[in-house]
Amino acid sequence: MKALESKSVVLLHHHLKALRLPTIGAECERVSQRAAADNVDHLTYLLQLLELELLDREKRAADRRLKAAKFPTIKTLDTFDFTARPSVNKVLIAELARCEFVDKRENVLMVGNPGTGKSHLATALAAQACAKGYRVRFCRATELVTQLIEARDERSFMRLKTQFARLDLLVLDELGYVPASKVGAELLFDVISTAYERTSLIVTTNLPFESWTEVLGSERLTGATLDRLTHRCHIIETRGESYRLHDAKARNRRSKQAEAPGAESPARAAVAKPVDNPQAGK
Ligand code: ADP
Ligand code: MG
Repeated sequence: MKALESKSVVLLHHHLKALRLPTIGAECERVSQRAAADNVDHLTYLLQLLELELLDREKRAADRRLKAAKFPTIKTLDTFDFTARPSVNKVLIAELARCEFVDKRENVLMVGNPGTGKSHLATALAAQACAKGYRVRFCRATELVTQLIEARDERSFMRLKTQFARLDLLVLDELGYVPASKVGAELLFDVISTAYERTSLIVTTNLPFESWTEVLGSERLTGATLDRLTHRCHIIETRGESYRLHDAKARNRRSKQAEAPGAESPARAAVAKPVDNPQAGK
């Protein structure tokens, strides 16, 4: 009897592997013991196992999507201090975090000085989209252009374009930090016009609209790019000074107060000293 049981278990694990049901394989014995102890019927036992597999499968898929998005760092909306950035409409960001804009193929444009939280917000929104099942990719605009130029004469160019065509949401970070070459500007325009009404874009830039010609070169290309980008677009302005600078100044003030007569121990004040470089541009 024992030998028969263990043979069934071996076969069971073999079949589960063939059917790609790893969570059921890992959990079936534990759940079956609990089901026996709780007097749970067979169908409920089966349901419990399938639910575990489904949950795990969703989690694995979400992890894969997050990895495929290639975020440089993960940021969340929970850690964004809206009081430090009053120009950003918290209600609009919460609405965008529901990701209906991705279904509607709308774009989000984040404009503001370096260090004002554009990449933070873009990453947080795009990570929400990953969690909701959308295919997302994060790219720095200059890196994307380099990648496209390098792949230009090869089959990999088409492969890259096919990869981008499959996306639901593309983040183009730091558009405009470096002026693009003529070819680079055309490739950027190509990405933006291919995405138009097919893939949502989140674009972050430090450039006001009137300066886009400096980056894209020709007025014709700038007009055409802005036309596509801003059609059905949510614009978020992150006005004000760099968050790092603001943070460093606040810590500086705290450390000065701590050094003042009657303040607490010097050790505490040393801890409060700024560690960031307040001149850091972005
Ligand atoms: P930008 O892309 O506009 O140059 P970042 O999003 O990279 O700025 O922000 C710079 C740093 O400051 C990041 O570490 C970011 O997480 C942080 N930061 C910026 N704004 C805020 C904010 N309002 N609340 C919390 N952290 C912020
Ligand atoms: Mg940035």
